[in-house]
Amino acid sequence: MESCSDKKIIIAIDGFSSGGKSTFAREIASRLGYIFIDTGAMYRAVTLYALENGAIRGGILDEDKLVGMLDDIEIVFRFNPSRGASDIYVNGQYAEGKIRTIEVSNLVSAVSSVPEVRAKLVALQQQMGRGRGIVMDGRDIGTVVFPDAELKIFLTADPAVRARRRYEELTAKGMEVSLEEIERNIRERDEADQSREVSPLRKADDAIVLDNSRMTLAEQMDWVMEILKKGIN
Ligand code: C5P
Repeated sequence: MESCSDKKIIIAIDGFSSGGKSTFAREIASRLGYIFIDTGAMYRAVTLYALENGAIRGGILDEDKLVGMLDDIEIVFRFNPSRGASDIYVNGQYAEGKIRTIEVSNLVSAVSSVPEVRAKLVALQQQMGRGRGIVMDGRDIGTVVFPDAELKIFLTADPAVRARRRYEELTAKGMEVSLEEIERNIRERDEADQSREVSPLRKADDAIVLDNSRMTLAEQMDWVMEILKKGIN
């Protein structure tokens, strides 16, 4: 058994939409001095590019057109010290705000089920984790991107609790959204993420499940720090 302070490890956090994965992952990364990567932001960034460049029209994705564009899409994270987190840039353009709209949320499942999109983003994610010392959150991190991650966490929470959190997050940013619309979007994405053919959302056999429906971030941090303190294989 080694403790986490002895060597840099990979921490994979997977789970359903709006389950608080990014907040939790960001906090763990900041506590350990690790890099944090939100892979959902990468799928959202490709969706935004598809919308802005005519591969999605009238809500319909033209898969061939998107696949033809993939080599032109450059996704980069840049650390923003004022936020204490990384912002995403698509072909040099700041995209943090634009990727979180309900329009992108409604279309991202279709984009993320395209095998070529996944191949491109998984390769990029694996490259980002080459040096280890990374906390990555998504849907397939423990199963596909880093099956050898030293710590895998599968986060779950009640859909109603997740919808309420997402609603509060978006309205705090001044977006006009309804709770019903968000709850519908979350349920649809849960279904789409679990039933898609390529890399469906599923718990890795060696992942530890954490249901955070009734947990504060501080309680989740105590839980994970205890696991890290005990050491992982
Ligand atoms: O995490 P977030 O909700 O922002 O992710 C947006 C969407 O991106 C998910 O609903 C899912 O369809 C897709 N995704 C994925 N694989 C990942 C991360 C996100 O398919 N590793």
